[in-house]
Amino acid sequence: MKVGFIGTGTMGQPMVRNLIAKGFGVVAYDVVRAALDAAVKLGASACGSAADAAKQADLVVTMLPSSSHVEAVYLGAGGVLEGAAKGRLCVDMSTIEPAVSRRVAERLRERGVRFIDAPVSGGVVGAEKATLAIMVGGESADLDEARPALAAMGANIIHVGPVGSGEVAKLCNNLIAGVAMVAVSEAFRIAEGFGVDPKVLTSVISKSSGNTWAMEHGHPVPGMVPTAASSRDYAPGFMTDLMAKDLGLAVNAARELRVPLAVAPAAQQMLRLASSHGYGRKDFSSVYAFLKPSSGQAPV
Ligand code: NAD
Repeated sequence: MKVGFIGTGTMGQPMVRNLIAKGFGVVAYDVVRAALDAAVKLGASACGSAADAAKQADLVVTMLPSSSHVEAVYLGAGGVLEGAAKGRLCVDMSTIEPAVSRRVAERLRERGVRFIDAPVSGGVVGAEKATLAIMVGGESADLDEARPALAAMGANIIHVGPVGSGEVAKLCNNLIAGVAMVAVSEAFRIAEGFGVDPKVLTSVISKSSGNTWAMEHGHPVPGMVPTAASSRDYAPGFMTDLMAKDLGLAVNAARELRVPLAVAPAAQQMLRLASSHGYGRKDFSSVYAFLKPSSGQAPV
């Protein structure tokens, strides 16, 4: 089976590598030449547009930054809709607005092209090890067709419901993950200020009620978890700007439902502040670096 993979960035590259390793042919497209070249190095063939990739593929997979990119890649000039044959299945694995997934699905359906949303959790390490959790919104039969390709990239494939509901599950997960990372960063800055060894605090929290994935796997303090982004100068990983975007998805969803939300918007603003101080393209655990108190300040 030939997969048309569009968006070969941080996540896309290891996902392409795993598809190729499991015997899939991959034709790839990315708007950034360096990202496309990296996919070619992994064994993919380069395409000149998303339409071209869709035309050549049996299954289309997209892994793009946000809603506007997904709309452009599917519905814009030179997009998937121009190239995909009637009956073709498309799988969008980006994290975007559930309403956009539904809108794109509807536009494709009018032209006889099928669409499911399948956002992922597990980060770059999960993408590299093919252990991603994949949350799927769409028809069961479409998921069955995509399953072999999804299984080449992830370990836990969960059918959440109709189109868009994979994205709902994903934004709920990232609401928790984003808030937790800001909370862990604040806690460790307080501990540090009072001279408590972060290693000791880590072992206390890991056995206490504050334990969380954000600390266990994404520890924001450099040197605590060797595989965490903080231990490689916060190279992503998962960029601060992307997590701020995901918290925005949760904020928008809550607004639509009139669910009051206090903590997620605060965490989003903290990440936006970190971004405005140069941490936007760093891993989102770099919010800890941003929270460094300036020296020489008198305590209040
Ligand atoms: P990224 O920015 O590294 O990669 C996205 C790629 O899409 C880039 O290479 C970019 O050039 C390409 N692109 C943008 N517009 C395009 C267009 N019009 N045509 C073709 N290619 C285009 O981002 P990423 O970290 O790989 O994340 C991708 C998605 O996965 C995001 O929605 C993100 O929220 C989600 N996600 C990321 C992680 C992570 O740890 N990085 C984890 C889970 C989910």
